[in-house]
Amino acid sequence: MIYEHDRGMYVLTCDSCGADAEQLFDGFRDAVDWKKDGSNGWRSKLDDAGDWNDLCPDCVEQGPDASGEGDLLE
Ligand SMILES: [Zn+2]
Repeated sequence: MIYEHDRGMYVLTCDSCGADAEQLFDGFRDAVDWKKDGSNGWRSKLDDAGDWNDLCPDCVEQGPDASGEGDLLE
């Protein structure tokens, strides 16, 4: 998920392991754009409840087991 860490500064956090991305963002939109870039290894995955879960590169590598279930790597 992306949350406001301080006034105007946003942090991207892994919804599986809780790790923070290595950088802060000036805005929510910047964080979303960075995440969607793809070159940094982060991925978003829609869960059964229809919420987006953000996964760090480590959790992406571990695949569905890291987040319980899913079709991330298919
Ligand atoms: Zn993670």
